[in-house]
Amino acid sequence: MPSYTAPVKDMMFLFEKLRDNKNYNELEKYNEVSADLVKDILEEAAKINQNLILPLAKAGDENPAVLENGVVRTPPGYKEAYQKYIEDGWTSLSCDPKYGGQGMPKTVSAFFDEMLSSASLSFKLYSELSIGAYNCINHHASNEIKDKYLPKIVEGKWSGTMCLTEPVCGTDLGLLKTKAVKQSDDTYKISGQKIFITSGDHDLTENIIHLVLARSTDSPAGTKGISLFLVPKYIVNEDGSVGQRNGISTGSIETKMGIKGSATCVLNFDEATGYMIGTKDKGLSAMFTMMNLERIVVGIQGLGISEIAYQNSLAYAKERKQGKTNNSKSTNGADFIIEHADIRRSLLNMKSIIEGERALCFWLSQQTEVSLY
Ligand SMILES: Cc1cc2nc3c(=O)[nH]c(=O)nc-3n(C[C@H](O)[C@H](O)[C@H](O)COP(=O)(O)OP(=O)(O)OC[C@H]3O[C@@H](n4cnc5c(N)ncnc54)[C@H](O)[C@@H]3O)c2cc1C
Repeated sequence: MPSYTAPVKDMMFLFEKLRDNKNYNELEKYNEVSADLVKDILEEAAKINQNLILPLAKAGDENPAVLENGVVRTPPGYKEAYQKYIEDGWTSLSCDPKYGGQGMPKTVSAFFDEMLSSASLSFKLYSELSIGAYNCINHHASNEIKDKYLPKIVEGKWSGTMCLTEPVCGTDLGLLKTKAVKQSDDTYKISGQKIFITSGDHDLTENIIHLVLARSTDSPAGTKGISLFLVPKYIVNEDGSVGQRNGISTGSIETKMGIKGSATCVLNFDEATGYMIGTKDKGLSAMFTMMNLERIVVGIQGLGISEIAYQNSLAYAKERKQGKTNNSKSTNGADFIIEHADIRRSLLNMKSIIEGERALCFWLSQQTEVSLY
């Protein structure tokens, strides 16, 4: 199993030295977020990632998510770890206290995202899109929808997805075929197929809230006729409880080279009940609230993977002996490969790129709160 120590010291260096940003400093809500508080959070985050989440990476690779009798089962250990993860409140880190969140800056949740990506990217993906869905609903939905769905998403009891890609479109979403038919009660019946849907189905949460791009029957062709719909796996009753199953089924799990613990699903929508989010035909731009943040978070995934790769490369270079250097101190046998100048150069190259990536991710996370909306 790979080893991992969360780079809390490097993260705190950024938090203390790069935090000063004129526009950012004007965000009063973060004036109370002291370095000591952030350090305490990151030290707790390090513990859960190093001790509980890291072992899930191997478990997920060896026992991929499976589709059994129409239900997606996550790898062994995921359910227990997810329960602890939500009990400790990690899904709610940067969410609005109004919906049960902890109101931490996105820079802090970005550090947490990096740790989680290092520890187990597959496990991370089950909550990553929930936060994306939270942001999108929070910015575009009516208060009624926000009050009904956000507290459960923030708590981690319900998860979220983003459903854009279809068999006939990925890059060019203007061609999408998923259809939305308006009903007399202002809800819609959604029909079509979505593919490559991250965490499209799983057994970790009691409900899954899909954010689906679809075309209303009276909308124009192309990107100007796409609307955004909230389509829950289970219909939510008036009192907020989980009701009957909606018309959504999992066709299959996509075959992937890696992140096998993450269920990337083909989803079939058969007259599923959906609720329009935001303005009709402006769904693509509403979805971009989620996608713009997702782009940064996917960058952070790369950072997390790079960090754990670096840490394990360094450890290996200190234990593997091979060849003799010109200044060899070894009297019999080979030197550790870290003694070779080119290996040290490679490791330093990795480390400097990672530190640059981390600083960029920190800055981008600040910018989302200063200038995105
Ligand atoms: C692990 C994983 C998870 C995913 N999760 C989600 C998810 O949660 N929700 C979701 O909706 N989607 C998801 N996707 C799908 C992803 O967003 C799409 O793969 C992406 O939008 C690209 O679409 P595509 O794969 O259909 O590529 P295509 O559109 O088929 O493009 C294939 C290639 O052709 C190129 N190309 C396309 N059009 C042109 C053109 N006009 N000119 C020149 N080159 C062109 C593209 O750049 C690309 O290199 C996921 C994919 C993966 C692999």
